[in-house]
Amino acid sequence: MTYTIIEAHSAEDFGHKAAAAFIRAVSQAPQDPQIILPTGTTPLPLYAALREARRRPSFSYRQLDEYLGLGDHDKRLFSAWLEREILSPLGISRRMTFNSAANPDHEVHRILDWYATHGPADIAVLGMGNNGHVGFNEPGSGFEERVRVVDLMPETIAANQDYWPDGTVPTQAITLGIADLKEAEQTILIVRGEAKAEMLYQALYGPVTKDVPASYLQHQPNLTIVADQAALSRMPR
Ligand code: PGA
Repeated sequence: MTYTIIEAHSAEDFGHKAAAAFIRAVSQAPQDPQIILPTGTTPLPLYAALREARRRPSFSYRQLDEYLGLGDHDKRLFSAWLEREILSPLGISRRMTFNSAANPDHEVHRILDWYATHGPADIAVLGMGNNGHVGFNEPGSGFEERVRVVDLMPETIAANQDYWPDGTVPTQAITLGIADLKEAEQTILIVRGEAKAEMLYQALYGPVTKDVPASYLQHQPNLTIVADQAALSRMPR
């Protein structure tokens, strides 16, 4: 396994270093690259740094995952979150997003068809859950699985509930599969916080197993990890 680790010393430093890694990946990709972006608290400093960057990168956005069963204007939608944080500020208008309110099976087929026509993403930017999930590929997800409907694990629902103290979090979602993510030419994994240190170590140095979905990254070429000191505290020196 070869990868590049970039260590950050504060949230602000993390944002700047992740933004630099992002801009470097864009410069190495084909023009107007297709980029998968994550939601969550981890990428917020990255998006803040990109909003402030002097030269704003141009790209097409592909959605990673989305809750199912929410209406078009629901503020809990991941697409709305990305819209607020990065897509609208950067003026990114080319997007492939999931329709949370659609019939889930129809939506999966629509996305499968879309990928068959348009091919893989150029760059996947991914966070990692406390349980090692990437996107909503929870532990037990096969590495050959593609976009599909998933039931969220109780710990994921609990973690996501923290964002919405006054509302409930859906229990089902649609997610790109690891097979979709594996096809990306470049991958940037972003991780913050001591709570993820052991899981990051397991993902990179433990067995490659579907019990730790992020362990697929051990076989991923062109992998860059941007993490803070706390998240890297279990890594070998
Ligand atoms: P977080 O979520 O950035 O809010 O920790 C990451 C994830 O669950 O993938």
